[in-house]
Amino acid sequence: MKLTDEQRERYSRMLALRDFSEDNMDKIMNTTVAMLGAGGLGSPSLRLLAAIGFGRIKIVDRDIVELSNIQRQTVFNTDDIGKPKAEAAAENLALMNPEVHFDPVCVSIDDENAIDVIRGADIIVDGLDSFKARRAANKASLVLNIPYVFAGGVEYYANITTFIPGQTGCLQCVMGDAQDNPENTCALVGVSPTLLSLAAGVEVNEAVKIAIGRKPDLANRLMTIDTSTLSFDFFDIGKASDCEVCSKPIEDHIEEKDEPSVTQLCSQSFNVSAGKLMKLDLDKLAKRLDSSYHVDRKKRFLVVTIDPEVRVTVMPAGNAIVKGAPNAEAAVKLFRLVVEGKD
Ligand SMILES: [Zn+2]
Repeated sequence: MKLTDEQRERYSRMLALRDFSEDNMDKIMNTTVAMLGAGGLGSPSLRLLAAIGFGRIKIVDRDIVELSNIQRQTVFNTDDIGKPKAEAAAENLALMNPEVHFDPVCVSIDDENAIDVIRGADIIVDGLDSFKARRAANKASLVLNIPYVFAGGVEYYANITTFIPGQTGCLQCVMGDAQDNPENTCALVGVSPTLLSLAAGVEVNEAVKIAIGRKPDLANRLMTIDTSTLSFDFFDIGKASDCEVCSKPIEDHIEEKDEPSVTQLCSQSFNVSAGKLMKLDLDKLAKRLDSSYHVDRKKRFLVVTIDPEVRVTVMPAGNAIVKGAPNAEAAVKLFRLVVEGKD
């Protein structure tokens, strides 16, 4: 594919780089990235991925934008507060680079949906905030044979490495059975915005190398960043011969289910995701619901007001953010009522 004059102008400073060709740019423009998480790491990563001109970016995030996010989640504006992060990020980034196709997917990544959500991507970039979600991403990376650029950061510390199925170990090899430490969350110990931007820059640098067919620098290497002393360190890592994930037939680890899964969000809302990825016709859904509820048809999602206290925001992939439900069970009931028409 030949670049248009406008693309050549837009990407001129990339094309002028030593060892970077139009052919490389073309590869980037034909690469799909699954950005998992549009929060502290996801935001600066997304800005770079979009600006650089990756062809298609799946933006996967389960949450909605809050005031305390804006300090580091640079993809959002203050008037995005209350919007689903995946949708708000797609809207804002499309203004920055309309050449890129964005697929916002508002789900909580887990073992049941990870493969469906990530399928079709060429590279996974990690902006997740839990080991549970990362383990699901790791397994999907192995099943789908997609490189997984891992990063995690809290307070002043970040870790980054790249897992390539068949060539390196996997997340389980490095992290073992490590669990999330509830006393070490961003909300409790804080997180430095500059740390996140540095880590995101490294992640996207890895993604560019993978896209253009070069060896990423962090394959079999773990990079650590400490912005309290501004230290950058590197450690050799590898595959654990007894790894219970990448040393076993990976299909064994993946199950699909029919029941919706529900996650309580920091904002006290619930994210309800259908067991399988759906393709909802939002116009049809709006028409069906219109006689019973107040329905606000936004460009990429529907906001259904059940009563003044209860609101269901429905995304086309078959997931919803339910605000005002007293518990998870009630949230699933509301999801079924709105998405499936079941009372
Ligand atoms: Zn492994």
